[in-house]
Amino acid sequence: MSIAAAAPSADSAPPPSAAQPRVVVHKFGGTSVADADCYRHVARLLQARPEALQVTVVSAMKGVTDALIALARLAAAGDAQWREHWHDLRARHRGAAASLLGEHAGASVEWLDASFDELAELLAALAVIGGLPEEVLDRVQGLGEVCSAHLLGQHFLASGEPCAVLDAREVLVVEHGELGVNVDWETSAQRLHAWRQANVQQRVVATGFIARDRQDRITTLGRNGSDYSGAIFAALFNADELQIWTDVDGVLSADPRLVPEAVQLEALSYDEACELAYFGAKVVHPQTMSPAIQRGLPILIRNTFQPEHPGTRISAERSVRGPIKGLTLSAELALLNLEGTGLIGVPGTAERVFSALRQAHVSVVMISQGSSEHSICCVVRGNESQRGRDALLQAFAHELAVGQVQRVQLRGGVSVLAAVGDGMAGQPGVAARLFESLGRAQVNILAIAQGSSERNISVAVDSGDATRALRAAHAGFWLSPQTFAVGVIGPGNVGAALLDQLQAAQPQLLGKANIDLRLRAVASRRGMHLAPRALQGPWRAALADAPSASDLDAFTAHLLSAHLPHAVVIDCSGSAEVAGRYEGWLAAGIHVVTPNKQAGSGPLARYQSIRAAAAASGARFRYEATVGAGLPVITTLRDLVDTGDEVLSIEGIFSGTLAWLFNRFDGSQPFSALVEQARGMGYTEPDPRDDLSGIDVARKLVILAREAGRELSLEQVQVESLVPEALRAGSVDDFMQRLGDNDEALLQRLQQARGRGAVLRYVAALSAQGASVGLVEVPVDHAFANLKLTDNVVQFRTRRYCDNPLVVQGPGAGPEVTAAGVFADLLRVAAGEGARL
Ligand code: ADP
Ligand code: ASP
Ligand code: MG
Repeated sequence: MSIAAAAPSADSAPPPSAAQPRVVVHKFGGTSVADADCYRHVARLLQARPEALQVTVVSAMKGVTDALIALARLAAAGDAQWREHWHDLRARHRGAAASLLGEHAGASVEWLDASFDELAELLAALAVIGGLPEEVLDRVQGLGEVCSAHLLGQHFLASGEPCAVLDAREVLVVEHGELGVNVDWETSAQRLHAWRQANVQQRVVATGFIARDRQDRITTLGRNGSDYSGAIFAALFNADELQIWTDVDGVLSADPRLVPEAVQLEALSYDEACELAYFGAKVVHPQTMSPAIQRGLPILIRNTFQPEHPGTRISAERSVRGPIKGLTLSAELALLNLEGTGLIGVPGTAERVFSALRQAHVSVVMISQGSSEHSICCVVRGNESQRGRDALLQAFAHELAVGQVQRVQLRGGVSVLAAVGDGMAGQPGVAARLFESLGRAQVNILAIAQGSSERNISVAVDSGDATRALRAAHAGFWLSPQTFAVGVIGPGNVGAALLDQLQAAQPQLLGKANIDLRLRAVASRRGMHLAPRALQGPWRAALADAPSASDLDAFTAHLLSAHLPHAVVIDCSGSAEVAGRYEGWLAAGIHVVTPNKQAGSGPLARYQSIRAAAAASGARFRYEATVGAGLPVITTLRDLVDTGDEVLSIEGIFSGTLAWLFNRFDGSQPFSALVEQARGMGYTEPDPRDDLSGIDVARKLVILAREAGRELSLEQVQVESLVPEALRAGSVDDFMQRLGDNDEALLQRLQQARGRGAVLRYVAALSAQGASVGLVEVPVDHAFANLKLTDNVVQFRTRRYCDNPLVVQGPGAGPEVTAAGVFADLLRVAAGEGARL
């Protein structure tokens, strides 16, 4: 393409001041001109800019090009419905003119009607000939830009702003070549010069997308081509700057419709922008950069709806911040693979492959050949792939016949993920990071290519994996490696306290330790809230108007959907059903943290398969808060076992409620009165039998026993229940009323103990002889006899701590401390993933 030398300026302006560009070309995409309000907004934005010459290139109104193409196809297919759609489209334009121009709309509506009548004639002719010649399609699909420029121009004029409307078909001459659309700069500049003689206004509104070819036929610059029009006019008008206005804050690190986490890029080099655009970043047309490169013209991509945002600056400068600038995805591709032992060491095979494809007009998107030279594979467009395969079969017919080439394979439904950035060059580890992220997201890579410019690594994947691959790669490059998708189940007392602690600690954890805990899902019995990115505001409010009923499958799918580096479920529910999910979660690599005792003390077989799933996937299962709330009981036990110690016995008081009751039970008040008081203070479960039955204590003992390496089940624990047989059924009220019946018996046991210089305590014990929980007499000077309030105590006797046991003691109940225990587990999981705390 001949560009700069042959692109004389149509306007000989003095050199610009650095502070204020004098000649600026703006381009507004269809997303910026969707309706009359948008045109008004765009006009205000332009009027506020004091530019000596302001050229504004506009696209068709949003969706209009698609609608015009559909109209042409309908008419050509003989479908009479085109008239209905034609009406709708005319009504849309008429409506926009009426709203935009008010009392001045009359002439515009007439002009629009005339244009649409002409369109109707063309469509009717298509219906007659029953086909769609390229030339007619170009004429039809370009009409949206003509109407759009007319509307904006008339709006300026109606508000008293001088302005000239430039129909690009009058000046812009292009030619379609193999590498895209080439501009005939000389003719275009001459024509523009002539046009400028007659149109001297400082404000010009021009049509994007459309042009003429050398034979004077109407043509287009290809879909999304108005960006390119902007760059061409910037060259022709010798602009100081090109500003491309769209509906996002600039070029983002990935398509925001696929990656909600995408971040805005401040600056890109021309090369980076070209690579991103060629590989599918829709935000700018790939040819846009070429006229700018020649003259060093900066391109700004900006948001029409956030004009104060500086946007992305594309220029010759290279800012090497981070190895990767952006990720793109190209879809609807196919993989062609030529394989054969006879290819090894034979020169010219690649050339034959590519010349066969070129002759068949199949363009090659990506090439990969292993150094064994056993196969050559390339990625081609899906709609050209069959042609490509036939061409290869023909070109290698002889080799196939004699067995030098074994096969020519075609695989459809392929997408290419490309990672782009100048900073990749010479930097090791970039590919590793990409592949690690893809591996973790279980994405199978079909082919890999990296150009020696080291600005682009491309991987071909199955289209079914494409979005997952893109999100995973994005997370791998842009997020902290300690980013966790967090899902919390059961916001009861402990769950609520945990959520509060989590939300309060998040900023500090992110700032100081780079641990990014993203609360993405909260489920309660009544409903669940799934946050698109992460729940920012108060979780209570989000859950209060949770639209969906809780569904653990949807919960899990959502947790994984963002493909953050890690996912963790925090189960604060106490539910056996939720515990039934642990194995599946762990097997899928989701960590599980819980104060729920169901899994740790439930059926042994289930417990073992949970542990096996965790061991196989590397996901962690942590449940410190199941015993002694926030006290480091299980962690201590694990440390003992992991360092090779042998646990001989475990003994302790594991229930804050029972600890409090027996600390206070001195005979001055009946036991039932103490239970009443404890219940009043919220020390007991809603049904105090849950505490008094001893089952909860037995569950904790089972958890510790298993942690110590014993295969213990709940049924094997001897449990002394403090709920008399007769009171086990019936309502809570009944139970509370009749609990006094048992007072006498308990008082007697206390007095007997006292007679022996002892007190009563509810103790759990595990030894070689077995496991039991129940009321025992302990000497008054024993550690268990001297606890405070609801304190828990656990004594480990081990081979190392055998004369004098290792003791963990402290407050062992309450939502705050329990939640803190759960939180500590979560941070241990993060530490296990490399977080530095
Ligand atoms: P316009 O009508 O302004 O030309 P387009 O729809 O052609 O707008 O392009 C803008 C859209 O491109 C954005 O809304 C965004 O969804 C999409 N897009 C895809 N990839 C990217 C990316 N890397 N950065 C920014 N936007 C992107
Ligand atoms: N209106 C054209 C299209 O939709 C050109 C553009 O908007 O860039 O492709
Ligand atoms: Mg566009």
